[in-house]
Amino acid sequence: MHPEGGCGLARHGTYERRSPPGTRIARWYCPKGHRTFSLLPDCLAARMPGTLAEIEAFLVSREQAKSLEAACLSLRPEIEWPGLLRWARRRIQAVYTALHLLKGLLPTLFEGCPPTLAGFSQRLGSEGVLPALRSIAAPFLAELPTPLGLRPRRPRGARPDRALQHSTGADPPGLMA
Ligand SMILES: [Zn+2]
Repeated sequence: MHPEGGCGLARHGTYERRSPPGTRIARWYCPKGHRTFSLLPDCLAARMPGTLAEIEAFLVSREQAKSLEAACLSLRPEIEWPGLLRWARRRIQAVYTALHLLKGLLPTLFEGCPPTLAGFSQRLGSEGVLPALRSIAAPFLAELPTPLGLRPRRPRGARPDRALQHSTGADPPGLMA
């Protein structure tokens, strides 16, 4: 909100995340803007429980499995089947949307690379694709969907997405006018 500084941004305690257990996220507060900011570590999923590595492990198993159901068999036995499929589809849709967008945003790096975790992993020479993308895609995180990026899901019925149009910051007044 105040890249020029001088607004008095200050530590504002922490909040706890249930997963992974014991995680505390540092918060900061801007007194001029009356807003708090959370410092989410690169290893954690945004607006979803758990780590990016856990989500990546599931998606890699999905890429290797014959079906979504087969990939889900070993997952979270405490969740009933319809909930599990929703859990899986939500992550699949969000992460592959982000990979597609990143191919376009970083054409030099990802040209000709399949927009899959296997493809990105090979291109980056790293298995921790999602945590690595947090720094590689740092300029775009506000515009990439969670859990990799920081852009919350659009509410049902909202106007079409205007994210990747070089606007900066979240919802400046008048954007939707
Ligand atoms: Zn500020």
